[in-house]
Amino acid sequence: MSHELRTPLNLIIGFSTAMVEHPEMYDNQPLPQLYHDDVAEIRRSSKHLLGLINDILDLAKVEAGRLELHTRLITLDGLLYEALKTGEGLLIGRPIKLRREFEPGLAPVMADEGRVRQVLLNLLSNASKFTDAGEIGLGARSNDRELVVWVRDSGIGIASADQPRIFGEFEQVEHEESKQRGGTGLGLSICRWLIQMHGGRMWVESTAGKGSVFYFALPLATMASLPQPEELIAQAA
Ligand code: ADP
Repeated sequence: MSHELRTPLNLIIGFSTAMVEHPEMYDNQPLPQLYHDDVAEIRRSSKHLLGLINDILDLAKVEAGRLELHTRLITLDGLLYEALKTGEGLLIGRPIKLRREFEPGLAPVMADEGRVRQVLLNLLSNASKFTDAGEIGLGARSNDRELVVWVRDSGIGIASADQPRIFGEFEQVEHEESKQRGGTGLGLSICRWLIQMHGGRMWVESTAGKGSVFYFALPLATMASLPQPEELIAQAA
């Protein structure tokens, strides 16, 4: 199912990208301007559709209990620096300062690196989408039980009445300001599922008009949660 949906869409994205960005694939003949904007729009929309399909497929897997985590012992340092780089890209030319609010050398957790990356990017892209000016911070700190990670923004914020439902599927806050900002309302529900599958939790603190802080906490790796020698041998085989 996922293959049938993604393959044709990747083809549309691939060819429209080539037409807009790689005239060398067409005997160096650039796309005439008259076509350029429409093809660029095909590309933008198909990328959006791919994001949506990926989200829906993830959700279907979660609901069917078929989403598997591939956890290993990691520290999130690398992922957080990588996310900062992505954040810089999202904020180029915009009056928003990106702040690092963690010190390297974070306590290790048992986690699926790809899925934690997905959550971080989702939160950062929301922060960037709902902030016009000010700052966005990416931070992490551990206590004796868990590693708490946050993405903080000085954006439009979320009224307290809306806060519980934004983690629900297809839920978006209806107001003038967020209407133009797109999205599907699936990102946060998938993020919360993914974090809960790690034995963690996710929540938000926000003030309308002032900004939001999205947090997630992952349990720290303990001796008991580490892979046992026989599992390591099986993994290596
Ligand atoms: P999407 O962003 O695709 O609509 P999400 O599930 O990621 O879906 O978010 C759900 C809703 O929560 C958004 O539509 C928006 O109304 C609100 N939201 C999420 N992140 C933020 C944020 N950083 N600032 C303000 N509102 C937010």
